[in-house]
Amino acid sequence: MGYPHKSHPRETPVLSKHFGNPEARKLETWKSLGGYKALQQALTMDPVAIQNVVKESGLRGRGGAGFPTGLKWSFMKLNDGKPHYLACNADESEPGTFKDREIMRWTPHALIEGCAIGAYAIGAETAYIYVRGEFTEPIARLEEALKEARAAGIIGNNAMGSGKKIDVWVHRGAGAYICGEETALMNSLEGKRGNPRIKPPFPAVSGLFGQPTTINNVETLTAVPHILNNGAEWYKAMCLSSPKSTGSKLFSVCGNVAKPGNYEVVMGFSFKEFLYDLCGGPLPGRKFKALIPGGSSVPVITIDEAESVKMDYEGFLEVGTMLGSGGVIIFDDAQSMPRQLARLSRFYAHESCAQCTQCREGTAWMTKILERIVAGQGTFEDLDTIFDLAENMTGKTICVLSDSCAAPVTSGINKFRGEFEALIKGKRSSTVAMGAGV
Ligand code: NAD
Repeated sequence: MGYPHKSHPRETPVLSKHFGNPEARKLETWKSLGGYKALQQALTMDPVAIQNVVKESGLRGRGGAGFPTGLKWSFMKLNDGKPHYLACNADESEPGTFKDREIMRWTPHALIEGCAIGAYAIGAETAYIYVRGEFTEPIARLEEALKEARAAGIIGNNAMGSGKKIDVWVHRGAGAYICGEETALMNSLEGKRGNPRIKPPFPAVSGLFGQPTTINNVETLTAVPHILNNGAEWYKAMCLSSPKSTGSKLFSVCGNVAKPGNYEVVMGFSFKEFLYDLCGGPLPGRKFKALIPGGSSVPVITIDEAESVKMDYEGFLEVGTMLGSGGVIIFDDAQSMPRQLARLSRFYAHESCAQCTQCREGTAWMTKILERIVAGQGTFEDLDTIFDLAENMTGKTICVLSDSCAAPVTSGINKFRGEFEALIKGKRSSTVAMGAGV
């Protein structure tokens, strides 16, 4: 089928059910699989009733922040006489995260249906899917599917014969990490430089072109047709731990692991079982050492901490990290944490939009100091300087890019201080001596 990952029996494939089946990309097949039934039903409902079903389901934003979706939709003041917009965040720029592109590649109609329902529920006639420019195949699949949906009258001036106008457009980004930040995304969509804007005002008050706007991630919107088809109770029942985290979730797994790939499990799944059974454990002869569970922007945890986690928003918070985008990056015992963190820091320094001093200077200095330590030229004072820098990079900028650089670095130093100290003392750590890492 051209897709390397086959579902594990302990997975709950809802969004990923048709990954690997090229036939599912075609409108005809998609409809025979139940596609666009939820949109048809939604168009007969009051938008507030749709918002309430989504609220009741407990669906939370899958891009990283986990904000309740129905609540976000309810911030849009219906009948205010203003044009409303839906923007689907398909930038998926977070390192270690590669689930949204698979949704677009294999089931583009699922996303189009989610966008159309979302647009209708917030009083918008236009939805934009802002896609990372490098996603050439997902963009082609989406464009083909949109053409089919438009030709069949599913979207357009008279969506599914309802008399309502709903259109969906693809907009390509140009590959800047910061354009995945919602306010930078809006600037980019407007044709401006992708610099984040100060919030508030939140997009629901003043978003795209200054008008009320909702921004939702691909995975979030794709879950909506399933919720309308099967009901809020069905979605809520997919919950193995905290009732505040419901539904299924796609996790992308990469790094030093036997079976990297995308896995869809119910919220609250055991992380230990996930890592050792579904993902096949470490590579032969190695042991897991640490991981960053929510894309690169959240604190590092040790494997011991990870093994007790229930995979939901609350479960990851309990061990001092976050579920984030669900991109699990795994490091084994051959990796040097100083080298890995220096590499991450360099990424953030490169991607900073440079508007805020704390971010522009902070990410650059953080990288310089970490690289100095990795080169065996660091001092103990450097470690103190990193913590001082990190404090000034956290909670003080327009967006969270600099916080996202500081969090994995400081947690990584706290948990693997011995590796940093060994480099500073001039004793190259065994893992570095092996040449593993960056
Ligand atoms: P946020 O908590 O500021 O906002 C989350 C969402 O809720 C936004 O849409 C925001 O507009 C809305 N919101 C929050 N408070 C509101 C209020 N009082 N009124 C109205 N709306 C409100 O988080 P964020 O800065 O949008 O996102 C940060 C997250 O993004 C991080 O957790 C990070 O993991 C993740 N991230 C994901 C990717 C990716 O590729 N998926 C890339 C980078 C970062």
